[in-house]
Amino acid sequence: MTKKILILGGTSEALRLASSLDGARFEPVYSLAGVTRAPKMPDCRVRSGGFGGIGGLIDYLNAEQIDAVVDATHPFAAQMAKHAERAAATVNIPRLKLLRPPWQKVSGDIWTEVASTAEAARALAGHGWRVFLASGISDIAEFAAAKQSKFFIRLIEPPETPIPLPDHELILQRGPFDVAEERALFERLKIDRIVCKNSGGQGAQAKLIAARDCGIPVLMIPRPKPPAGEIAATVEAAMLWANALT
Ligand code: NAP
Repeated sequence: MTKKILILGGTSEALRLASSLDGARFEPVYSLAGVTRAPKMPDCRVRSGGFGGIGGLIDYLNAEQIDAVVDATHPFAAQMAKHAERAAATVNIPRLKLLRPPWQKVSGDIWTEVASTAEAARALAGHGWRVFLASGISDIAEFAAAKQSKFFIRLIEPPETPIPLPDHELILQRGPFDVAEERALFERLKIDRIVCKNSGGQGAQAKLIAARDCGIPVLMIPRPKPPAGEIAATVEAAMLWANALT
């Protein structure tokens, strides 16, 4: 019998896993939060939108008779990870966190770890810097405290609500980007600080290599604590885990 696997998505690894599982053995269901207007889609069944908290997810797992969950959401999607952990435990089905390794600082990097976006904003306050914001827009209002800086905000698509920062410019681009492109962008915009989440992965790493090449300091926001339980660092490891399901 095929195993029905719910893949909580929103990352390149989730997409790759959903499209790579053997169709003869698995029936993947790919789940999106529904926050991106034109997301990349895998070659399998897709559902979109929140489940309605832990209770909603438990109901979904039962109603759809899901056999296992792979939480392949972004390393900063802490709420969804917690919900997946609790709901899978309640329904008593296996769950795996697919979590790519974080980036590691190497020689030449000028990184300062800041605990949160609020702390990044405090570090920028009082300076007239040109800041490349690569940390998303969920808590962007925090940066209003850094009034003297100009912000360059890279997004995949235009925001639905106005950006609450007085001096900013939007850069609408979908990655991946290569190092030469990132270097050229930073030089053209005369960037002198970068704010970034430690998402890990190759697709978004070029900006850090370009920052190193250009000597630009980076304010790095570390990841939230991962959920308890088994973690796979790669799609291949997640496939091994799925193949071992009985
Ligand atoms: P979050 O704070 O952990 O989740 C907020 C709520 O969004 C969840 O409680 C859940 O709603 C819903 N949700 C999140 N991921 C979902 C999924 N894959 N399928 C169905 N519902 C989902 O997550 P977030 O940081 O807002 O991220 C939202 C999505 O964007 C994630 O799927 C993540 O992989 C992707 N993403 C996030 C980031 C980031 O920096 N945070 C970056 C790139 C991509 P209910 O409680 O109603 O079920």
